[in-house]
Amino acid sequence: MDEEGVEPEDRLITTDVLSEEAEDTTIRPATFGEFIGQEGVKETLRIAIAATKQRGEPLDHILFSGPPGLGKTTLAHLIAREMNAQIHTTSGPILEKPGDMAAMLTLLGRGDVLFIDEIHRLPRVIEEILYPAMEDFRIDVMIGEGPSARSITLTLEHFTLVGATTRVGLLGSPFRDRFGLALRLNLYTPEDLSAVVRRSAGIMQIPITQEGCHEIARRSRGTPRIANRLLRRVRDYATVRGDGRIDGDVADRALTMLVRTIEEVYEPYLIQVGFLKRTAQGRESTSAASEHLHHKWW
Ligand code: ADP
Repeated sequence: MDEEGVEPEDRLITTDVLSEEAEDTTIRPATFGEFIGQEGVKETLRIAIAATKQRGEPLDHILFSGPPGLGKTTLAHLIAREMNAQIHTTSGPILEKPGDMAAMLTLLGRGDVLFIDEIHRLPRVIEEILYPAMEDFRIDVMIGEGPSARSITLTLEHFTLVGATTRVGLLGSPFRDRFGLALRLNLYTPEDLSAVVRRSAGIMQIPITQEGCHEIARRSRGTPRIANRLLRRVRDYATVRGDGRIDGDVADRALTMLVRTIEEVYEPYLIQVGFLKRTAQGRESTSAASEHLHHKWW
């Protein structure tokens, strides 16, 4: 253990994860121009941003919904950047006490973006603080306890709440209705994902052919985050088994091996928890099983 109380083993693991995380930051699109696909969502946002800028007003609250890894967090950062605003980020499960939310809200400046990921997991008490904050830019806080307790009203700066959720149905309609814009992100087309892979490979300086991009895109389940992860795994394979270049054949071999390895290691577990169906033809992964594998490993 070193002076910071970190086991050397832990530190190694942490460093490895951080290097991929650091790479994630570099490949994350920094402008709308770099954000591939989702044309309808981008156009709606561009118009809303241009109009509010012309009027000199802060942007209305925005709710993004859609499966994980489609770009909701990225868009929140893009919005803040386009609005020349500060972004403060948090997530539903982190916020436990009403005081945490109140403290966060009072720190916001005019036009700042408050990004709440997994907003459907906010505790109800915190959601209720957000109602007047979103609508009237004020919160009521209780001071003291018992008979001497009293409520005071704090006024807030006009901020923009950007919420992201994978389960929009879990948000109550009073909450949903307080967002001026509710935008749904859809799974990406193979062409768009191919462009995502090409762009990321360019930033990571990985030589890749069009077929290599297609092969990775084809197996990425419509999700840019998965496309970027698969690109890294194929890069590893190409470095060790080839000369570092990725073409369609290298990508196919790398990804076939990856899928086989994951299935061999995890099949007993998946059978145990009832994820796999056995059929006359052999085994068949159910959609729940492949969902599980993708989220756990890719
Ligand atoms: P979410 O918040 O929906 O889970 P993120 O915004 O964290 O998704 O996106 C996951 C990763 O996928 C990002 O780091 C980014 O590199 C990549 N990504 C997402 N959307 C796009 C896009 N439209 N164009 C290029 N890369 C994207």
